[in-house]
Amino acid sequence: MNIGRISDLISNDTCFEMIRENRWPDGTVLCPHCDSENVKKNGHDNVQVECQHYYCKSCKRYFDDLTNTVFAGHHRPLKVWIACLYLMG
Ligand SMILES: [Zn+2]
Repeated sequence: MNIGRISDLISNDTCFEMIRENRWPDGTVLCPHCDSENVKKNGHDNVQVECQHYYCKSCKRYFDDLTNTVFAGHHRPLKVWIACLYLMG
């Protein structure tokens, strides 16, 4: 499989949109720590700028698009492509 070729077809931005849609289908971002909707956007990742960061005002913790998913951890673009392929089924 040629990852480079796939990355030409789908942008990183699209990948993160897919991850967000899969995670929060109705568009309401829920805190992975306490399930609160009391969440505000908190800028983007320094390394992977498409990755949205959030701050939960209920439990005062930070998280991002990939927190508590199998794709969380290292900020490697390849992981995002794997995530995309997974979501595309
Ligand atoms: Zn919370």
